Amino acid sequence: MNTQASTEVLICGAGAAGLTLAIDLARRGVPQRLIDKLPAPFAGSRGKGIQPRTQEVFEDLGVIDRMVAAGGLYPPQRLHRADGTHADSQEIVLAPPTVQEPYRMPLMVPQFRTEAVLRERLAELGGAVAYGRELTGFVQDADGVTATVAGPDGVETIRCRYLVGGDGGRSFVRRALEIDFPGQTLGVRAIVADLELDGLSRDAWHRFGEGDMNRQISFCPLPRTDLFQLQAPIPLDGDVDLSVAGLQAFIDARWLAGGLTLRGVAWASAYSMNARLADRYRAGRVLLMGDAAHIHPPTGGQGLNTSLQDAYNLGWKLAAVLAGAPDALLDTYEEERRPTAAGMLGLATGLLDKAKTGDMKRGREVHQLDLGYRFSSLALAASADRPETALKPGDRAPDGVLRGAAGRPTRVFDLLAGPHWTLLARTTGPTRLPAPRPGLRIHTVGEDGAFQDPDDALAATYGLAEGDLVLIRPDGYVAAILPVADGARLEAYLAEMGLASAQTPQARAA
Ligand SMILES: Cc1cc2nc3c(=O)[nH]c(=O)nc-3n(C[C@H](O)[C@H](O)[C@H](O)COP(=O)(O)OP(=O)(O)OC[C@H]3O[C@@H](n4cnc5c(N)ncnc54)[C@H](O)[C@@H]3O)c2cc1C
Repeated sequence: MNTQASTEVLICGAGAAGLTLAIDLARRGVPQRLIDKLPAPFAGSRGKGIQPRTQEVFEDLGVIDRMVAAGGLYPPQRLHRADGTHADSQEIVLAPPTVQEPYRMPLMVPQFRTEAVLRERLAELGGAVAYGRELTGFVQDADGVTATVAGPDGVETIRCRYLVGGDGGRSFVRRALEIDFPGQTLGVRAIVADLELDGLSRDAWHRFGEGDMNRQISFCPLPRTDLFQLQAPIPLDGDVDLSVAGLQAFIDARWLAGGLTLRGVAWASAYSMNARLADRYRAGRVLLMGDAAHIHPPTGGQGLNTSLQDAYNLGWKLAAVLAGAPDALLDTYEEERRPTAAGMLGLATGLLDKAKTGDMKRGREVHQLDLGYRFSSLALAASADRPETALKPGDRAPDGVLRGAAGRPTRVFDLLAGPHWTLLARTTGPTRLPAPRPGLRIHTVGEDGAFQDPDDALAATYGLAEGDLVLIRPDGYVAAILPVADGARLEAYLAEMGLASAQTPQARAA
């Protein structure tokens, strides 16, 4: 049977990137379809590190508490020696939260749990994954894309305005577009598997044979499951037996202390590590995100995080363009996310070299809190006479605590949460602010504003002088910091984002 359907955005691939984009579009009311060729949700733990910046994204998407409840913190590393002794160490740098950075420790959540929480959120917003549906072809024209999807009931033709390929490292969409995926094969092959295993405690990530690629093996207890994630490098060539018997023999050959009994294998994979980056992220009305656009070794726990943040960058831009913003806004997706992925490839590959010699430490550089888009055309340059401040347009917007005029403490992240833009105006007297409009929330901060800034802490964090405005993007990055007198520049910028106002600036009541 051949059926026909239409939607605004067709998302191919329901991994972390596809689910995040579907949630972001759903909360903006953008009609979309999310398809995956798998018959049922992916069952493996593979990308299990959730970095602090991704935790902030999860707060905005309304899932942070569920995500924490689904996982746990990284356990200490226990390095076992051949003589049966061991030493514990903490490979992850643990840092307590601050007002500006409420999440500073990576979380450990098996990927199947992360995706389950995201699917639950999508369902709350009225969406769902259509499993068992494979994108097999597409053609685009000036107005949209016509996609062919093979499913259990036959072939479906889906007409959409944009197609997004979040279809993993072997991306069909990328190959159909003939976009090159240059990079290198890193000469490392590994097993990753989720095991039901007896003989190890669950209070540590057990490692053996560190620094020896022929002997290394590690078992990480996956929080809130009874599974361990096995990781081990293996020879580049040859078959790998991933059955219970095969993996038991593999463990016995490497874990010389013995005493480990494998009861079951929930999921297992053998894979070769690559570092590759797509030449382009966009071809007309078709875009790439996640592993479809970049792949890299798992060292540093960056893959899933970077993929998910691709979607978070793309969601608001797609929605804005569909609502009438200039198409050029979509070009800033590649402009911002491709250099970010290039940097992440270098980081993960450098950590892989250290892991080979048993010398890997993971600190702030993997947290993704310092990533931003200062280089982007969306970062509105400060006027020449403005004093230098630490925080600049393009930077991640820090959290802070304000006090509402009604007396309640309010976090900046509470003001940012949701699909809108946010304008914070530091003002203590009457002033002319941009007119209100859909998609923009304006908050006055100052002595007689809607919010007070105790000890001028927010002003210090953001580098705000009296009369300054700070415009924050829907994805939580500073777009502009400028004086209220620069209202015309701000208006022009907002119009480019699809937020033009028919009204004149409003006088704020004193
Ligand atoms: C073996 C392995 C181990 C890993 N370990 C780690 C780790 O330790 N830490 C880490 O951060 N990252 C790790 N990663 C990477 C991490 O899992 C990925 O970065 C992350 O899953 C990327 O998410 P994604 O949504 O872009 O793609 P994926 O999760 O790959 O999802 C793509 C989806 O697209 C679907 N699809 C593909 N083609 C089609 C089609 N034609 N039609 C419909 N659907 C299609 C697939 O079925 C799949 O569900 C690992 C990856 C692998 C493969």
